Parts: sequence; C-alpha cells; structure tokens
Amino acid sequence: MNKYIFVTGGVCSSLGKGVAASSLGALLECRGLSVRMVKCDPYINVDAGTMSPYQHGEVYVTDDGAETDLDLGNYARFTRSPLSRANSITTGQVYDAVIRKEREGRYLGRTVQVIPHITDEIKGRILAVGKDADVDVVIVEVGGTVGDIESIPFLEAARQLIHELGPQNALSVHLTLIPEVAGGELKTKPTQHSVKAMQEQGIQPGVLICRAPALLDESTRRKIALFTNVDPDAVFTSYNVDTTIYEIPLVFFDQKVDQVVLRKLGVESRHADLSAWKSMMEKFRARKSSVRIGIVGKYMELHDSYKSVYEALFHAGLECGVGVELVKVDSSKLEGDVDPDTLLGAEAPGGAVDGVLVPGGFGQRGIDGMVRAARWARESKVPYFGICLGMQIMVIDWGRNVLGWQDADSTEFNPDTKHPVVSLLEEQIDVKNYGGTMRLGKSETDFEPKTKPLAAYGEKTIWERHRHRYEFANVFRKEMTDAGLKLAGFTPDGSLVESVEWPDHPWGVGVQFHPEFKSKPTSAHPLFREFVASSRDHKAGRS
Ligand code: GLN
Repeated sequence: MNKYIFVTGGVCSSLGKGVAASSLGALLECRGLSVRMVKCDPYINVDAGTMSPYQHGEVYVTDDGAETDLDLGNYARFTRSPLSRANSITTGQVYDAVIRKEREGRYLGRTVQVIPHITDEIKGRILAVGKDADVDVVIVEVGGTVGDIESIPFLEAARQLIHELGPQNALSVHLTLIPEVAGGELKTKPTQHSVKAMQEQGIQPGVLICRAPALLDESTRRKIALFTNVDPDAVFTSYNVDTTIYEIPLVFFDQKVDQVVLRKLGVESRHADLSAWKSMMEKFRARKSSVRIGIVGKYMELHDSYKSVYEALFHAGLECGVGVELVKVDSSKLEGDVDPDTLLGAEAPGGAVDGVLVPGGFGQRGIDGMVRAARWARESKVPYFGICLGMQIMVIDWGRNVLGWQDADSTEFNPDTKHPVVSLLEEQIDVKNYGGTMRLGKSETDFEPKTKPLAAYGEKTIWERHRHRYEFANVFRKEMTDAGLKLAGFTPDGSLVESVEWPDHPWGVGVQFHPEFKSKPTSAHPLFREFVASSRDHKAGRS
C-alpha cells in the first residue's frame, strides 16, 4: 500500500512549505522510493492561468498544459514526480466538478454539502494520484495556513484520509515558525498554538518542522514535544541557510527527517544515495567568479514572477562554474531617448551586463524597451536569450532595425501594423475568441543543422512546453531569412517557427517555448547552460 504525507503550515505564510515538502520528496527519492507530489490550493480560481504574475508569481505549466501554482515548479526542481493537471487541486476545480455533477443529477436528489461531497471530491483527487502500482509515497501540500477559512475542507479531507488509511499509512507533517524576540530568545508559543489549531481540526501532527534562525537545541525540542504530543525526535529545524535552498534536503538528512518519517510510516529504511545533491553543493562552493545577466522584462518587482527563469540561470551557473548575478531591468525604463548603455552597457550601475535575457510576458507595456535591449545585445555582440515573448522581440527587432520596417510589431501590441511579423494564426483569427486559443503544454520541435540550439541539446528532436497565443508570421519568412535571420527550429510539419538565431553573433537564440520549467539544480537545462557559458566567455573576452 502506498503512503500519504500531508504537509501543512501554521503561524504565518511564506515559511517555505513548498521547499520543505519538496526536500522531503527529494530525500525519499534518494532512498529509492517513487514519490508523487500534490498541491492543494484553497483559492477559488480554477487554475493559476488567470492570476496576475504581480500578485501570485509565475504560472507554472505542465506537459499536459495545466496552468498551475508556482509550487509545482519547486516539485519539478527537487523531485522526479511526474506533474500534470492531476497534481494541482484548487477549491475552484473541486467546486466546479461538484456543481457539474449536481447539475447532471448525479447526487440523486440529495442535498449537496461541503461534507461529504466537497471533501469526497478532494479525497478522490488525492487518492487518484497514488493509484499507480509503482507509487510508494504521495506528498500532499495543503496551501494556506491552519486557521484560514479557505483551507478547512482540505484539512477535513486530510483528517478523514489519515483516519481511513491508518497511522501506519498516513502522516501529518506540520511546519511552524519559531520567532526570535529581542535578546535573541526563541519563542515556542506560536508553535504550540499552531499545533492546537491542527488538533482542533482533528489532526495530530506526527512530525514538526520548525522554521528558526538556527538549529533548535535539545531542550527547546523537548519543550515543543511536551506541549504538542509530538515525539522529541520528530521535532526538526528548517534553519536559515546562507547558501541555497537546494541545501535543505541535506539539512533535513543530517537531522534524520527522512528516517523518522519512514519509521512512522513503517517503511523499511533503505540506503540513501545523496551523491547528486552533494555534488551539486560541491559545484556551488567551487564557483570562483560570477556573471551579470540583465533580465529585461515587465514584472520586475516581484521575484516570483520569473521564478523558474531565475532558478534555471542559477542551475546553469552551477554547471558553468560561475555565480549568476541578476540585473533586473524594467524594460519600460529603456524607452524614449534613454541610451541602453546606461542600463546595460559600461555606464550601467555595477558595470556592463555579460548577457541579456528577455523572458515571457503579455501585453503592450514595455515592449519597445525590450526591442531596444535586443538590438543593443545584437549590435554589441552580447549573448542574448529570448524566451517566448523574448523570441518574438528578436523578430520585431529584425523587422524594425534590420529590414527597416519601423512599424514592425506583433498584432498583440499593434493590430493595425503593415508589418505584423508576429501574429495570430489564420484559424485563431477566425475564432475571434481569446479563451482557449492559447497554445499550452508540451509539443515537439525539430532543430535545423548547424544551429546553436541543436548544439546545446545535442538532439534534433526535443519536447518543450508552450504558453502563448502569437506566432512568427510565416508570410515574412522569406524577407526575414533573406536578410540573414536564421530560423533554427520548427514544429515537425514545418508550419510554425519555434526558434530563431542571430547570424554572426556569439549566442543570440530565441525559443517560442519555455525551457525554464525543466531545469534542475542537479541538471541544468542545456539552453540556459550554453547561454550562461557564452556570457561567461563574453566577460572573459572583454577583460
Ligand atoms: N504574449 C505573447 C503571446 O501570447 C508571448 C507569451 C509568453 O511570453 N508566454 O504569444
């Protein structure tokens, strides 16, 4: 029988519940177990697709095209759990399904209620993730903080499942905060209250993970244990690391988190192979220099808006032996008569950037600034990586500044342009309905011979995920390529351009897909690796 672990959080949000759940998943995988990760989000949105990146951070896209919470990105970076629509459960989805069933008359005239109908729907979805024979452990992260009204149905579903599956098969892992007050004293009271709130929901945590400034001492752990009915050896610390979040699996391993969890679940402990995580940390410590990468985008205030991109750059740095310093540039600041040199070149605060990355995005604001950044990188021969919108920006720059079409644009930003170099496909225009016209999820790209992406992947055919609506306009293919732009990759039938490349440039590559979703600290994505490597070489060449 497979085992279930429910990870909840108390005291306050942003304690790193996602990282804790993922780190536990990573450790169980190191012990040879097959792990699945699930996120329950108490919000009423059906998915994260409609949520603003300013408010909620990036939308993480799965192979099957689900637009999910960014926590799934953590799962993908730490574990090998397959991730699809099934791994992200929101209140919106649950109610949507229950209301549909009610309209279809499937509840046979009964009153439809939170308990049992909503909770049964949640339980059914959680159990479905663990149904494959090869699954050993399902880790279910319940979003929000105990005590929130929204998360009550999810906690109630967890309570019922723990009871039905039995204590040998289901475990509650609760994350809390141990704050430090003036004088440096650590306070356990918020943790005691948080566990009480769990107990009021009918759930007795079996393991506590306490977020604290430093490793808790024996007496503090005993005190917490005494007040919470948790074994003293099951009270752990997630202390602040000054290295990287990817050290957390090792921090947990040193405290035997995985051993205690497996003991409680009655799983025989197998030998743990931590070599991948240890060698990742060796690479982290071996980095000697750093590169400055200019990220020119529009959602710059919130780090989470481009989370997977930033993480992928960090992973690439590990593989290239360099730290990556992020230079976040709001593209609207590059507009008007601002000289790009003052923000990206030698005159920029902190000095010139060694590479420019334009990430994905929607809407008109800041586009001209991105085009100016692309032109600057192209003409100054600075490595450039364009992701989704960032590739479309390369095409607009080529139209405007190489072919001399001043109005070259995407019809997303200027529907009336005479040079719509990026536009909707014919069949999308016919639909005249934006909902459902987005290209989402994984699809195939074939690279052309002698191109940089082909060299990076080492494979002609690759699969990557999409999330966009507009495409390279095929009517301009001839003029664009006659003027030298390389079309580096296509869909297998050749109908859509998936990648472009600048000629006579150290590394100027754009891709219509989102490679950042597949990068891991233990294996960097090949495009990010090559981009960071060329930025490193560019820096070396300059000095
Ligand atoms: N806004 C562009 C489109 O819809 C790019 C989207 C993106 O970068 N994810 O095609």
